[in-house]
Amino acid sequence: MKIYQTTYFWRTYLNYVLFILLGTGLVGLQQAITLSASETEKDEASQHAQGALLATAAASPLRTVDQNALEDLTSIIAVQTGLRVTVILPDGRVLADTMENPLAMENHLHRPEVQLAIARGNGDVERYSQTLNRNFVYRALAVNSNGVLLGVVRVARAREDLDVLIHVKQLEVLKNCLLVLSLLLISAFVMVWRKTATVELLTKTTEAIASGDFERRVPESRALGMKRLADAINQMARNSAKRLSTLTAERNRLATIFTGMVEGVVDVDEKQNIVHINEAALFLLDLQREKYIGKPVWQEIRNQKIILALDEALRTRAVIKTQIDYLRGREQLVIDLYVASLADDNGNPIGAILVLHDVTELKHLERIRTDFVANASHELKTPITAIRGLSETVVNDPDVDKQTLMSFMERIHSQSIRLSQLVGDLMTISRLEADSGEHNFSRINLVDLISRAITAAKPVAESKQHALTAQLSGEKLEVFGDRQNLSQLLDNLIDNAIKYTPIAGRIEVRLRREELDVVLEVEDSGIGISPQHQERVFERFYRIDKARSQSLGGTGLGLSIVRNIAERHGGSVDVASQPGKGSVFIFRMPLALAGNEEIR
Ligand code: ADP
Repeated sequence: MKIYQTTYFWRTYLNYVLFILLGTGLVGLQQAITLSASETEKDEASQHAQGALLATAAASPLRTVDQNALEDLTSIIAVQTGLRVTVILPDGRVLADTMENPLAMENHLHRPEVQLAIARGNGDVERYSQTLNRNFVYRALAVNSNGVLLGVVRVARAREDLDVLIHVKQLEVLKNCLLVLSLLLISAFVMVWRKTATVELLTKTTEAIASGDFERRVPESRALGMKRLADAINQMARNSAKRLSTLTAERNRLATIFTGMVEGVVDVDEKQNIVHINEAALFLLDLQREKYIGKPVWQEIRNQKIILALDEALRTRAVIKTQIDYLRGREQLVIDLYVASLADDNGNPIGAILVLHDVTELKHLERIRTDFVANASHELKTPITAIRGLSETVVNDPDVDKQTLMSFMERIHSQSIRLSQLVGDLMTISRLEADSGEHNFSRINLVDLISRAITAAKPVAESKQHALTAQLSGEKLEVFGDRQNLSQLLDNLIDNAIKYTPIAGRIEVRLRREELDVVLEVEDSGIGISPQHQERVFERFYRIDKARSQSLGGTGLGLSIVRNIAERHGGSVDVASQPGKGSVFIFRMPLALAGNEEIR
C-alpha cells in the first residue's frame, strides 16, 4: 500500500494540520489584536505630543490673531505628521485648518472636543466630522496666556488613516503567519510521511512474520526512532523461527517413530475422526492413507471390537487392552489392541490413540510349541509306559520263566533305545532353537564332511547290503557353517535313506556346485514318498507309517531337524520322490566365497 493511501498517514497528518492551524491562528490573532492596540496607543501619544507642541507654538500668533503665521505653522505640522490641524478662536471661529478652507467652515465652538478643551484644558473625542464627512479622532487643547483663553488648537487623525495603517501592519503579520504556517505544514508532512513509512515497514514485517516468513527482519537503519519496537519484532521473528524448527524437528521425529514402528498406530480426534495413521496400521487394516484421513473411524474400520474398545476408552478414559481377530483379505490375523484416550493440559478429551500389534505369528508359534510339547510328551509316554509295564510284570512275578524274562528285557532294552533316541533328538531341537547365532560357524570343506559321514554309515549300510556310493565334486567346496549341525544333517539324510530302502538297495550321495550354491543330494532306491506326504515329512513327529518308522528306530524328528539346520545356514531342503522307486533329498546352501566369508 502506498504511504498516502494509509489511514495512519492521513489521521496523523490531519491532527498535525489541526494543531498547526489552531496554533498559528491563535498566535496571529493575538498579534493582530496587540498590534491594533499598540498602534492606536502610539498614534494617540504622537497626537498628544503634536497637540502640546502646537499649543505652545500657536500662543504667539494667536495673541496677535496672525492668520498667516498660523496657517504656516499648521501646514508644517500637518505635512510632518499627516495630522489634520485646526486653530479655533475662543468664540468658535476657525482661523486655520489644514484640510478645509477656514472661511467655509462653520463655527466650532460647540464641537465636543472644543467644549472640553475650554472647560478642562484638553479634550479627546472620536466622532464624525460634519465638515469632512469622515470619522476623526480629535485632541483639542486650550491655549491660554496669563489665564486668558487665546484660542483652541486641535489635531485630528482620520480614523480611516489609522485603520489603514493598522491593516497594513496586520497584513504583514498575516503574511508572516502564513509563511510560518506553510513551513510548519510542509515539515509536518515530511515528518508524518517518514514516520508512516517506518510504521508501514514495521507493519509489513510483522504481517510477514505472522504469516510464517520467519526470516524477515526490520533493517535497523530504517527503524527511525522505533528501534526498540524493531528490535522486539526481530527478536520475536528469531524466537518464532527457533520454536518452529524445534517443533518441526519434534514432529519429524514423531513421524519417523510412527512410520518406523512395527505396531500399527491410529490417532483419532474426540469425534473419532482419523487424524494420523502409520504405515503398519494401514498394512494391518488393509487401508489406503489418502482415503482415510479425516474420516470417522467407525465408517472406515469395520470391526465391531475396535469400535467398541475406542468408545469405551473415550467414555471411561481408561486404557483398554483386548485381542481381536481381524480378517485381512483372506488372512485371519490375531491383533493385540490397546486404546488410550488422550487429554489436553486441562484434562479435556482430545481423542484417542489405537495401537495394533500383530501377534498372529506369535500365536502360531505358541500353538506349535504347545503342540510340540503335547506330541513330545505323548511320544515319550509310549516307551516309558512300555518299560514300566514290562518291568512291573517282572517285579510282580519273580517266577516268570527265563525265556519270557529275556523277551521282556529285550523289549525294555529296545524301548529304552527308542527313548534315548527321542531324548537325543529333542535335545538337538532344543539346542538348535536356543542357539540361533553364527558364533559356531567356521569354514567347512563339505567333501571331507561327506566322506566321513559315509565312512561312519558304511557298516549299517552293509548290514542291509546297500551299495552306498558318493559322487563328490573334484573341487574343494567350502561352506560357512556349524560343523556339528551339518554333520547331523548329513547323518539324518543318509540314515533315512538306509532305513527306508529295502535290503540290497542303492544309495548315492552327490555333491556339486551350482553357481554360488552347493547342492547335496542323497538318493536312494527305497520305498519312496507319495506326493501328498512329500511336504509334510519335514514336520515334527510326522511319519508316513508310524509302525514302520518305530520299528526302524525312527522318532519322526529327523527331517524337521534337517530343515531347521538347512534354514539356519541360509539354505533349503526339498524332496523329489516316486513311490516304490526311491527318493532324492536335495539340500542347497550358499558357497563360502574364497577369502570373503561374509558374502554368503
Ligand atoms: P523318522 O525318524 O520317522 O525317520 P524323519 O523325520 O526322519 O523321521 O522322517 C519322517 C518320515 O518321512 C519318515 O517316517 C518316513 O515316513 C519318511 N521318510 C524319510 N526319509 C525317507 C526316505 N528316504 N524314503 C522314504 N520315506 C522317507
